[in-house]
Amino acid sequence: MTKPIAIITGASTGIGRSLSIKLSNNYLVYLISRNKDNLSKTKELISVNNNDCKIIVSDISKTESIENIYSQIENKEKIELLINNAGIGVFKNITDTSINDWDNTLNTNLRGSFLMTKMIVDNLKTKKNGKIVFISSVAGLQPYKNSTAYVASKYGLRGFASALREELREFNIKVITVFPGAVNTPIWDNKNMGELRNDMIQTDDLTETIIHAINAPNNCVTEEITIRRTSGDF
Ligand code: NAP
Repeated sequence: MTKPIAIITGASTGIGRSLSIKLSNNYLVYLISRNKDNLSKTKELISVNNNDCKIIVSDISKTESIENIYSQIENKEKIELLINNAGIGVFKNITDTSINDWDNTLNTNLRGSFLMTKMIVDNLKTKKNGKIVFISSVAGLQPYKNSTAYVASKYGLRGFASALREELREFNIKVITVFPGAVNTPIWDNKNMGELRNDMIQTDDLTETIIHAINAPNNCVTEEITIRRTSGDF
């Protein structure tokens, strides 16, 4: 029997790579991001477990990418899961936040998730089956300074996912939003976090919990999960 399809944005590094490797045990995973070399590395790690995947190099912040992504997915009737994970972090005060910073952050973290969701939602509605996961952040639940664009994008994402959940209940589509605290991934490269990175949540620990939520059986859904360090935010 062929596996159902999972589509994962931001699968080239960090949380998306870890989710892709784990999900490939049960799904044929479509890996989406802009960097082909990093996607190929994820593919290589997936193949270690004798699992398969497909790579689509694309920028999800661009409207024209979406049709192209959908056209590359074979056996669309098998699509069951979308993980809206791709995201960027701009951590600057408002004076230093450029209009480009704002647009890139909102277009990737919020608009990209909207576009990807719109791409597959009718497919899932027709089947009356499916799951959509949003990787938000604790910055989608409470404000942090020097993060206006990031916080705005993640608050927006919570609003979008919550409204979507209400709309899709009657179609048996589960919407799961995840709010992680600081996780040790490349998002922190070049951000002068030094030793603090070792004290962040480790990617595989986070993704274990997300996989558990995705696998919740039958008619129950884990709607929102907050995952922080036991000792709290830095
Ligand atoms: P990461 O390693 O930097 O991963 C970000 C991923 O998004 C990469 O695969 C990147 O790939 C992809 N991406 C960025 N812009 C894209 C675009 N326009 N189109 C397609 N793909 C794009 O960081 P991460 O920590 O794993 O981040 C994953 C998600 O977790 C993000 O939404 C982030 O906000 C959220 N999060 C992270 C933390 C944390 O502390 N790490 C905490 C809370 C929430 P390419 O560069 O190849 O495109």
